[in-house]
Amino acid sequence: MKYIQLLEDLSNAYGAPGFEDDVVAVVKANKGDFTLQEDAMKNLYLNFAELDPNKPTLMLDSHMDEVGFMVQAIDENGLLLMQALGGWTAASAQSQAFMVRTKDMSYVPAVATSKPIHFMSAAERQKPVALEDLKLDIGATSREEVINDFGIEVGQPVVPATKFYVNERNGMMMGKAFDNRLGVAATLAVFNELGPDAVKALPFNLVGAFATQEEVGLRGAKVTTNRVNPQAAIVFEGTPSDDYAKSATLGQGRVKQGPQLRYRDSTYIASDHFNAMIVAASEKAGIHIQKAVRDGGGTNAGSIHTGHNGVPVATLGMPTRYAHTHYLISAYQDFQDTVDLTVAFLKDLTAEDFAFTELKTL
Ligand SMILES: [Zn+2]
Repeated sequence: MKYIQLLEDLSNAYGAPGFEDDVVAVVKANKGDFTLQEDAMKNLYLNFAELDPNKPTLMLDSHMDEVGFMVQAIDENGLLLMQALGGWTAASAQSQAFMVRTKDMSYVPAVATSKPIHFMSAAERQKPVALEDLKLDIGATSREEVINDFGIEVGQPVVPATKFYVNERNGMMMGKAFDNRLGVAATLAVFNELGPDAVKALPFNLVGAFATQEEVGLRGAKVTTNRVNPQAAIVFEGTPSDDYAKSATLGQGRVKQGPQLRYRDSTYIASDHFNAMIVAASEKAGIHIQKAVRDGGGTNAGSIHTGHNGVPVATLGMPTRYAHTHYLISAYQDFQDTVDLTVAFLKDLTAEDFAFTELKTL
């Protein structure tokens, strides 16, 4: 498990949408000899400073943010009211441990409130709670203590407090934010596998774009697409597994079955030409992929494919169980297969292969 330390560092990093600073630091520490640039939205660009204007450009996308909350207000008892940043249900947030950022940029632990069963009526026990009813308890007893002693104010980010764990015996990882730190790690690993000399020698520019604010509407990727102006893009994602939702026959995102290649989801329809190229590369490399047609969900592909004059996008998803909760489970092998498939695909890709992205006279 060559990249397990990188995966651990990325999973443990705190990065609610708009507050991806700790993830930025991990990417910076693992950029190798490639150039890394940051824009005003905290989006990162790997190897973008080396762009050759005479070559087509392929962008490897991933997003650095994770689902979290923002402190909305502080009540008189010292409880924090919160607003979701990204998709949460009350069932997955209630009674869980979180980390709240303070003014001096450190994080303190908190628990999402629940009413003890001892005080609940029979009717209350049957009724689901609403997300709006959850507050965060940092162990303070007054509003003044929260503000003056803890240094927590309105507008601070909140993230799950989970720590990464790997089971060496079966190669399964458990942790938070695999959506989409698996993708961030995949981009870094692809660049590392190729190395600076081989990347420079490619007949196209290879740019890694690490986007912010995906969980609140694919926002960072609008900017990265604009800036990089790629001819094609590959989106890496930690996509929800359907191991338990569907049968083995109908499942399209099963853990340990290889990367999921998406044909559609609620945000885009993939380029059939580009997807066919990925399928051919997977057959040549002997790497199993899972073709997926998703009804809901979405990735940065939604923003990228309509950027500029239209960008063909292929999405490679690494199946993650329990997306948008504190504890996700993923297989290291699916991550490695995604990296290996991408490296094999890039090594065979020629400048002529980008012809399909150009405007044609019919
Ligand atoms: Zn997500």
